[in-house]
Amino acid sequence: MKKILLIAGTRPNFIKLAPLYHRIRTDAPDINAFICHTGQHFDFNMSDIFWQNLELPSPDFQLNIKGIGVVDTIGKTLLGINEIICQNKFDLVVVFGDVNATVAGAIAGAQSRIPVMHVEAGLRSYDRDMPEEINRVITDHISDFLMISEPSGIKNLKKEGFPDSKVFMVGNIMIECLLRTKKYWDTIELSKELRFFIDSNPVVATFHRPENVDNPKTLQRMVDILLNFAADHLVVFPIHPRTKSALEKSHLLVRLQENAKILLTEPLSYFVFLKLVSHAALVITDSGGVQEETSFLNIPCVTFRRNTERPVTVELGTNLMMDINDQNFRSDITRHENDLKKRKRMSIPLWDEQVSHRIVLQIKKILSIS
Ligand code: UDP
Repeated sequence: MKKILLIAGTRPNFIKLAPLYHRIRTDAPDINAFICHTGQHFDFNMSDIFWQNLELPSPDFQLNIKGIGVVDTIGKTLLGINEIICQNKFDLVVVFGDVNATVAGAIAGAQSRIPVMHVEAGLRSYDRDMPEEINRVITDHISDFLMISEPSGIKNLKKEGFPDSKVFMVGNIMIECLLRTKKYWDTIELSKELRFFIDSNPVVATFHRPENVDNPKTLQRMVDILLNFAADHLVVFPIHPRTKSALEKSHLLVRLQENAKILLTEPLSYFVFLKLVSHAALVITDSGGVQEETSFLNIPCVTFRRNTERPVTVELGTNLMMDINDQNFRSDITRHENDLKKRKRMSIPLWDEQVSHRIVLQIKKILSIS
């Protein structure tokens, strides 16, 4: 029996881990997959509800890392994972995405000379002001097997000198998760209030990137944008904990609370959020994964960031990049929506239900399992 360790720390990590975990259980009886939850996202709305929705078992290893900032979190997570790796003999470590748990897991595995696989490798924003970009670059360069989600990943890694033998185009595992759970999120019962908003095809907003919410000027601007949309749309805004605390500190939360056309919620469960997005007229965001989900669902999306590490969502999907200080944002967005209406829907290669199958095939090869 081969032993592999799957490491996850945040909401998007749980979503990427779930299809692979379930696929290993059904298709690879010779592999025992263990899960480590690093504790980066820990409360019910950001963690437990996802484990329920995604039918994941309790983690085999639960670290409760509470770091202050990126470096402290990576350092403590690295020590925690190292202890697990030293006490258990694993044949492969698998990390996902671009969070602190990703880079800590990759370093711990690589330093113990255990092969490391990075799922969602090769993405680049080329913006080192994003902590996630630094995590991506380090993780890729110390991983042995790079599982790519979109064509830009291949190009980026080629430019950085990676040999073809390490790089595998497998597709987007987050989209596999969306597809596999469609029967649940499509039919989920909603509260009366949320149903009322969904029936009106609202604007859905999610913001949590430090460059937007930790800066008082851009935070104010984000609130202005939400209020501007609320003049002629219903708006649903599930608030990330980081954003909520920034809005409270700057006394801006009350301005949103006072507006009856804006529904403020806690972070939503995966199923409720996907149902909401699938009924949205428009999504405004700074999330990574939401750019992909909206592209796949053919929902117009505007990403308030300087760049994206997921360019396929702009080229083939429904995503428009926008500077948060763009004064003509409403007319630019209307033009984008009109352009999308005229355009034929495009599909993105390998964003399907077989991503985890392709990854498991690679894992079997790596572990010499026929
Ligand atoms: N998501 C969710 N509930 C919410 C907001 C987002 O379930 O209230 C999901 C969303 O469907 C996507 C993931 O969380 O799959 C994106 O996570 P996030 O935006 O936190 O991280 P990023 O993708 O930017 O790393």
